[in-house]
Amino acid sequence: MTAGPKPSGPLWPKIKRGLAMKCPSCGDAKLFRAFLKPVEHCPSCGVNWGDVRADDGPAWASMLVAGHLTAPVFHWVVFKTDIPGWASITGLSLLLVLLCLAVLQPIKGLFMAIIWDKGAPTSG
Ligand SMILES: [Zn+2]
Repeated sequence: MTAGPKPSGPLWPKIKRGLAMKCPSCGDAKLFRAFLKPVEHCPSCGVNWGDVRADDGPAWASMLVAGHLTAPVFHWVVFKTDIPGWASITGLSLLLVLLCLAVLQPIKGLFMAIIWDKGAPTSG
């Protein structure tokens, strides 16, 4: 279990703060010091975020979300337009990669909020 305040109350506000990339405990400070590197401790409430390991879950969920969001676009471009194959593959691949990167950090915040709230084992 991490240091700092213990999780209490409903999960949903913690998920919303994690998705906003804020500390899921207090919502007052940033959760990340770099793109996917969480802060070691929240400067506001003291939760030790450095020990909460989301591992590959956020990457998996990001691909799941981005794939489902882009599937209709893929279908429309491939079957409903006359865009050359090389251009559609290049553009759609770029769209998919950018969308994965756009949702990766909020999803990692979501995973960290759930892991912390449920008291899952950490590296500490
Ligand atoms: Zn905090």
